[in-house]
Amino acid sequence: MTDTELAPLTFDCPRCGDAVSARFWGPCAACVTELRSTMTVEAETVETEYVPKMNVTPNAVALKDD
Ligand SMILES: [Zn+2]
Repeated sequence: MTDTELAPLTFDCPRCGDAVSARFWGPCAACVTELRSTMTVEAETVETEYVPKMNVTPNAVALKDD
């Protein structure tokens, strides 16, 4: 039972298509590194743009379905 959980998954990287062996499905290590640096830049941009809008949409968070 736990064997399947411990065994790494084998799949194609959804980004570059390389064969990947990992415990969780997702981009390969190279893509993760690349995405991380890209997302960091985007996150900083979004954060900067969102600061003045934060107080306008408090209900958007509260309306989120659980
Ligand atoms: Zn990849």
